[in-house]
Amino acid sequence: MISPYKRIYVLRLGHRPGRDKRVTTHAALVARAFGANGFILAGVCDPSVERSLERVQYCWGGDLHYECGVGGKSYVERWKDSGGEVIHLTMYGVPVDDIIGEIRSSPRDKLIVIGAEKVERYYYDSADYNVAIGSQPHSEIAALAVFLDRLFRGRQLYLEFTGAKKKIIPQTRGKKVVGSGEC
Ligand code: SAM
Repeated sequence: MISPYKRIYVLRLGHRPGRDKRVTTHAALVARAFGANGFILAGVCDPSVERSLERVQYCWGGDLHYECGVGGKSYVERWKDSGGEVIHLTMYGVPVDDIIGEIRSSPRDKLIVIGAEKVERYYYDSADYNVAIGSQPHSEIAALAVFLDRLFRGRQLYLEFTGAKKKIIPQTRGKKVVGSGEC
């Protein structure tokens, strides 16, 4: 267990079914692999995202909490009401290295908000922290990965997932995987 926080969830805004399924699936896989324990898809449900996530967890373990179709704003309100804090990743925010120490040392549950196209003003105003991973536009997947890496100081790369049916044995060349053949 690398995370001292009870809940570290990612709220994904602005998903367009069909068009964004790959990006949103990858954001969810980064959330899982980099130490978050929840992924919330705001506004819509997309069965292809859910299926991919289920497939990965069936073989590689873990139990990322997943919800979809929830109202983004009401989710943020409820999160704050329950005592959690909200971290919105945006290129317009405060440089991550200037604020990550404060975020890391706060014991509160963390909701990390990532957008797609334009993010509504509400999220900038209601976030406890607007955090920039550099001040250039890039990608929600990259922003999420770097933020979680900074938060956990790289320890997330050594996570072991409960219920994994297979496991990679690192090699200098080639592939070695132990475990079930059904995956
Ligand atoms: N103009 C947008 C912005 O405010 O960051 C860029 C949109 S980008 C296609 C989609 C999402 O990626 C953004 O909503 C944000 O969550 C994330 N993102 C992109 N670049 C970022 C950066 N430099 N720092 C933090 N987050 C970033």
